[in-house]
Amino acid sequence: PLGAMQDWDLRVTHLIDHAAREHGAREITTRWADGSETVTNWAGIRHDALRMTQALRKLGVVAGDRIATLAMNHSRHLVSWYGAVGVGGVLHTINPRLFDDQLEYIANHAEDQVLLYDKAFQPIVDRMQAKWTTIRHYICFDNGDFEDWIGAEDGQTEWADGDERDPCMLCYTSGTTGHPKGVLYMHRSTMLHAITGLQPAIFDFDARSVMLPVVPMFHAASWGLPWSGAAAGIRFVFSQVNDAAVLCHLMNREKVTHSAGVPTVWLATFQHMDATGEGLPSLRHAIIGGSAAPRFMLERLMKMGVNVAHAWGMTETSPIGTTGAKTWDWDDLSFDEQVSIKQMQGRVPFGVQLRTVDLDDNTVELPRDGKSAGALQVRGPWVIKRYFKAEEDAAPDPDQWFDTGDVGILHPDGTLQLTDRTKDVIKSGGEWISSVELENAACGHPGVAEAAAIGIFHPKWDERPILVVVKKPGAEVTADDIKAHLAQSVAKWWLPDAVEFVDEIPHGGTGKISKKDLRDQFRDYRLA
Ligand code: ADP
Repeated sequence: PLGAMQDWDLRVTHLIDHAAREHGAREITTRWADGSETVTNWAGIRHDALRMTQALRKLGVVAGDRIATLAMNHSRHLVSWYGAVGVGGVLHTINPRLFDDQLEYIANHAEDQVLLYDKAFQPIVDRMQAKWTTIRHYICFDNGDFEDWIGAEDGQTEWADGDERDPCMLCYTSGTTGHPKGVLYMHRSTMLHAITGLQPAIFDFDARSVMLPVVPMFHAASWGLPWSGAAAGIRFVFSQVNDAAVLCHLMNREKVTHSAGVPTVWLATFQHMDATGEGLPSLRHAIIGGSAAPRFMLERLMKMGVNVAHAWGMTETSPIGTTGAKTWDWDDLSFDEQVSIKQMQGRVPFGVQLRTVDLDDNTVELPRDGKSAGALQVRGPWVIKRYFKAEEDAAPDPDQWFDTGDVGILHPDGTLQLTDRTKDVIKSGGEWISSVELENAACGHPGVAEAAAIGIFHPKWDERPILVVVKKPGAEVTADDIKAHLAQSVAKWWLPDAVEFVDEIPHGGTGKISKKDLRDQFRDYRLA
């Protein structure tokens, strides 16, 4: 040969080897549900993961087997990620908030062999055990079982060898229709995604970073944090319970600089801060994603001196798709302009490609003009090709564009502005109304706690929007107040035909509003 470079398979076990070798003493703290705390470090995580690999081999687990977890965020859960992939297995993180029929379907469809679970989810295990037909071993993380199980091993072993295109992880999307679908990540895709997470615009990690991830490890792989965090050798602070008081206390005591969570997490945090007067002086970087972050939330965090990365992604994109990076003219912009930029979903990192296509025919590519809303498509080396056990590709050749189910506008500088999901967008008289924009506008009314817009059949217009609203406690608001408020920011023909007040809006397993359930509730609703 003329020369050569070393050809290493991009296996995710390299991440934990690196973390243990270069950042071995960097601490990883867990606050457990019972209030107790433990501290380990990257070297300890690796040692325990090696011991778990040995213990799994004794159970007869072989490469390709699925090892499931049903657990919140903590150091043993982190160990199990590396232990499962270390044996050559496929880590399957199950979302404990799913309904029983989904839990049953997912574990059986995945053919999970081993389940590692939190004591708090013992009732789920008791309920489901007879229905889960493939799980042979149940190991509890926090009653001593896990420690005893790996405690019998010495860690003197090697990771399983294999190809970088072997699978390493399986995550199911809750799926708004039909059965949940499994997304099977490869070592290679996970590794490329992990390295991408190191870009400043995404997680902004360096040696000083202390990260408390609120996004659970079962929600889209905790956005890849357990992998990227190892690559950067950051310090993790985990909490097994997501209680705002506990989180704020930990963030301040441990001088947490980075956090990540869905918008509702920040809502609860703000409420706690308002009630106690507590601040978050050490927080520098917050990643918000999973659903759109409202403007007031971005404003408040930015005024606290926090850099907000408002990110878009989905389980099918590993999940990082775009993130709210600063634009080239950022320093010349006013604060309000900066907030407006952060309110959009940001731009792609190298590796992800986006386009929008016509909503009606789904083939004509739309211009990046900052106006045309279309079906958002994505492709790249950590974007899904085919769902687990599916017969057909989800991103068909030759172009491999994957339909996200989201509706968005692309701006000339590449910024993505999500306006809706294709299933939720409301079609009135042949024109599209964004349910999300109506909801955001409604949430700007001081008496509104939560709002959801859905399309209702209309004999003349096809569909018309109605707005379903939960009032803030004690607020006196009428439908007309809300319509008058909306009229300030949306076109007249977008105004909902009716505003209905309810006590509660249904939410799905990852905390997002379930439009499907809401539409079911209003199935017999008639517009005059
Ligand atoms: P599920 O559909 O089960 O909730 P995911 O957790 O993978 O699955 O969610 C992906 C979806 O979440 C995206 O397709 C998009 O609709 C929504 N989403 C994610 N991030 C954002 C964001 N920053 N703004 C608006 N919507 C978002």
